[in-house]
Amino acid sequence: MATFRERALNEASSHNTGRYYVEEGPVSGYFGQNVLDLDKMRGYMSQKAYEAVLASVQYGAKLDRSVSDEIAAGMMAWAIEMGATHYTHLFHPLTDSTAEKHEAFIKFKDGQAFEKFSGSALVQQEPDASSFPTGGLRNTFEARGYSAWDPSSPVFLMDGTLCIPSVFVSYTGEALDTKAPNLKSLHALSEAASKVCRLFDENVSSVKVNLGIEQEYFLVDESLYNSRPDLMLCGRTVIGHTSAKDQQLEDHYFGAIPSRVSSFMKDFETEAYKLGILLQTRHNEVAPNQFECAPVFCEATKAIDQNMMLMIVMQKVAERHRLKVIFHEKPFDGVNGSGKHCNWSIMTDTGVNLLSPGSTPTKNLQFLSFYASVVKAVHRHHYLLMTTVASLSNSYRLGGGEAPPAVMSVFSGSTLYGVFESILNMGAVNEPEANSLESIKIVNSIPEIFPDNTDRNRTSPFAFTGNRFEFRAVGSSQNVASAVFVLNSVVAESLNEFHDAVLALENSGESRSAAVMAVVRQFLSESRDIMFEGNGYSKEWEKEAESRGLRAIRNVPEAFEVYHEEATVRMFDGLDVLAPNEIEARFEIFNETYVKKLQIEARVIGDMCLNHVIPAAVKYQNILIENIKGMKEIFGEESSVLCASEIDTLKKISMYVNRISADVDALVEARKKANRIEDIAERAKVYSYDVKSMMEKVRDSADNLEMLIDDEMWPLPKYRELLFF
Ligand code: ADP
Ligand code: MG
Repeated sequence: MATFRERALNEASSHNTGRYYVEEGPVSGYFGQNVLDLDKMRGYMSQKAYEAVLASVQYGAKLDRSVSDEIAAGMMAWAIEMGATHYTHLFHPLTDSTAEKHEAFIKFKDGQAFEKFSGSALVQQEPDASSFPTGGLRNTFEARGYSAWDPSSPVFLMDGTLCIPSVFVSYTGEALDTKAPNLKSLHALSEAASKVCRLFDENVSSVKVNLGIEQEYFLVDESLYNSRPDLMLCGRTVIGHTSAKDQQLEDHYFGAIPSRVSSFMKDFETEAYKLGILLQTRHNEVAPNQFECAPVFCEATKAIDQNMMLMIVMQKVAERHRLKVIFHEKPFDGVNGSGKHCNWSIMTDTGVNLLSPGSTPTKNLQFLSFYASVVKAVHRHHYLLMTTVASLSNSYRLGGGEAPPAVMSVFSGSTLYGVFESILNMGAVNEPEANSLESIKIVNSIPEIFPDNTDRNRTSPFAFTGNRFEFRAVGSSQNVASAVFVLNSVVAESLNEFHDAVLALENSGESRSAAVMAVVRQFLSESRDIMFEGNGYSKEWEKEAESRGLRAIRNVPEAFEVYHEEATVRMFDGLDVLAPNEIEARFEIFNETYVKKLQIEARVIGDMCLNHVIPAAVKYQNILIENIKGMKEIFGEESSVLCASEIDTLKKISMYVNRISADVDALVEARKKANRIEDIAERAKVYSYDVKSMMEKVRDSADNLEMLIDDEMWPLPKYRELLFF
């Protein structure tokens, strides 16, 4: 009988259709056709309603009930023209995915059917949200959570449904999602950054964050995927021996894109363009069957929403190509995992990128003010920032000698680093004016040698790349909002301090430029320890970082404790981004999610070993036994020499089978013991040590068996089959 694997391999070889859906004409012809942007909205509502939307988008003004009905009716008219039948509030619960509950436009009254979409339905929806994670913020008997339209992100059409980007909050107003705190952090950052800008330019009234999100992913044939219970249920392989060849020849990165993959890419790009996602680059990544795409950067909320949409679109389009997209951070052992590099910059409403070195002394002072504030923020909250990317899935990647290391550092590039060195070596902060002038001169020299974008450090989790920071540690499956809102917040806190420190010095008689320069120097000198220009993956850096007092993530649930630290709570609460009970809720949810995911993985590895691996091992043993018996019949005593290798294999298989059985039993026991622990944070820690280490032992035996057993009998697609098209 053919194994499941054999059938899957046969199917997979017939899946390369190379077909893709093509739109007529250039991309510009259909770009954004499924998005109702401000321009289009104008045609579907009165000037008054349109202006209300505009004010809401631009200044966050509250929408008046008197116009919301009209706005909703306009949206519905557009959506119906485009073939839609339903609408949904699309929100980002604390699960790293999106949630949607579709409602039909069609209504019935007195035997009549008609379409209606009211203003109140647009502004607010009450999904039965009792089963989203809430961390104790809302009891399930009070299953009320509200989703509310976020006008800063445009509505769009997907699969015949009008999608309304929304926040998700509890009955009493606490954030139950990643979007609400992100919006608050953007506000806090805008306030703080504008104040600092106005030290240089009175005309700045707001500041926004730009994000360019690079998305890495793996592709696996659908039939092969379906015959791996671990990929289906955990998103990663929990067993599987490495392939003889994987990424060691470095021949995949930037290599020619396989034709099956390129038709998939063209197809999902077309869909993404229609949703207004400005995809710009695509290429092969380091690991086999690993790829990346990146859009042009845009304003943070939109960039995040679009990234979440992109992930959905990619998964849907993959079905047409009999492919599965894997966003897990570490689906395969032994090859690189995937991340989501977050290119982050801040820009004024007057169009100045505050992380771009300027061409005049004043502009450079402003650049340095922002740079020093970011560095100080990253230094002070380095452990918190690293914790924002800590999850079970990313933990298989963190610190594994590939992006990213487990400890935070900031890379500036040799030119800029040289400038900082000279600023820091210039003597006491309150030295005479001459020093400040001198430093301005140094600063002024940056543009001539800058920007040098070739000065890249790919081993740094937080690298300056000429006009932005690249937060490289974010996980590929993560909603980046959960990391970005923390970054926005810590920088806002730092900028507030920067501003106050400058004013204090001015009040004591310093000139503005001298005061600014003094605070820049103070911030840089306080944050010296976070700056690192060398190899972030090296053992030496691990030691060096420790001696500098930088805390590395060694264990994910332990890292979550940072949410209880005073500096964290004070920062979030002070900026009005997260209240203490919201922080506590997150802490609980993170721990709970960690436990649940690990529990699933532990069950899956147990099932796979007992139901797939051991039966195959026993079957192969029987063949060996038959062979040895036959040999004995023919050769008698001599057979024990002739069959030495078979006998040895037989013994090894028995040893691993016994080991697996015992370890799987121990794994079940470890889980049971952990499950009895009431406190979720403690339970997560026990899981992270006891359950995880037992899983590693089980895996080791299973992977050894894979090498011993007849290939024809092995029931699960192997790495070499999963990883190469
Ligand atoms: P690389 O892999 O070399 O980092 P990519 O082209 O893959 O480059 O991705 C770079 C990302 O950074 C793109 O999304 C790009 O739009 C974005 N980006 C460029 N400039 C900025 C900026 N000032 N602020 C935020 N993102 C930016
Ligand atoms: Mg890149």
